[in-house]
Amino acid sequence: MEPINTRIWQLHQDGESNRQAIAEAAVMLKNGKTVAFPTETVYGLGADARNPDAVAKIFQAKGRPSDNPLIVHIASSSQLLPLVEPWGALADQLMKRFWPGPLTIVLPVKEGAVSHLVTAGLDTLGVRMPQHETALRLIEASGCPIAAPSANRSGRPSPTLAEHVAEDLSGSIDGLVDGGAAGVGLESTVVEIAQGPSGEAIRILRPGGISREALQEIGTVLEEDDAASPPGAEAAPRSPGMKYKHYAPRGSVRVVDGEPERVQRHIRRELAAARIRGERTGVLAFDEHTHNYEADLVISCGSLSDLESAARGLYAALREFDTRNIDLIWAEACKTEGIGEALMNRLLKAASNQVQLV
Ligand code: AMP
Ligand code: MG
Repeated sequence: MEPINTRIWQLHQDGESNRQAIAEAAVMLKNGKTVAFPTETVYGLGADARNPDAVAKIFQAKGRPSDNPLIVHIASSSQLLPLVEPWGALADQLMKRFWPGPLTIVLPVKEGAVSHLVTAGLDTLGVRMPQHETALRLIEASGCPIAAPSANRSGRPSPTLAEHVAEDLSGSIDGLVDGGAAGVGLESTVVEIAQGPSGEAIRILRPGGISREALQEIGTVLEEDDAASPPGAEAAPRSPGMKYKHYAPRGSVRVVDGEPERVQRHIRRELAAARIRGERTGVLAFDEHTHNYEADLVISCGSLSDLESAARGLYAALREFDTRNIDLIWAEACKTEGIGEALMNRLLKAASNQVQLV
């Protein structure tokens, strides 16, 4: 495909030039073009969800499989009414508690409300309201419901900086609003409303920025999680995107899980063996342990005592292993509490579920 000229707007402290940039980007969206923009999770690649040609450009630019539906982003509750069928009390409580924020709620879609490409033929729509001033202002100014998956090439780590978006998609998208680092660093939590043993319940389809524990404060969270079925499993996954190998660096990743001392000893042994074989080695460790390793590249994505910061650093770290041409990467596991559940989910995906239990 002919490369297109990607317009980049750099946002500054100065409010006036930002207003101008957002107004220009909004016109592009209105006119059926694709614009990448920051959100509080990762950068998104947006287009008017109602315009099939615009949505097709997202799939093309990302190389995204057409059976993987897109999340639609809104800036106000009034934008939701034309998109989905009337929703129940639990969905309402989730919206009131977590919107704007990193929670996507899957609801029955109103026939014809968005392009069929957005829902990938499902009769549901994933919707969320981002908690990011630039994203909200852009969506509002465009006047469109904005379909926006993460702004990376399919299979690459999600972008947490505009530079990552440019690396993957420059020349394939119409615009890029550079608003600095995204917030959480991992994608939104995707949930649907299911019938539990005692009425409406929450089913997590993809762990993310809102933790299981936070959801449990609002309602029952079902334990059975068919979204976590391994790639190639027989049953159609409820969250189709979970079946793809996402977030993977080019080097081969293995997650090492167990008692910390044993994990470190194991990784050190593996590193020594790999060095003898002449492979370029990498370790993704936590701050507390980086000094234990000798490898071509040792990266910490944050502290074990602050997994939120580790989540913010994960995707940039995975990209760095690629930039430095690392062949083999060992990653330390963490607890699956709070944001740790989403962090481990993404790590396991990057590792194609290769876990070394020690
Ligand atoms: P991304 O846009 O890359 O963050 O991926 C969006 C995720 O949300 C993928 O895992 C999708 O399969 C999932 N998703 C989007 N829409 C729906 C839907 N209607 N039903 C179930 N999962 C959805
Ligand atoms: Mg994605």
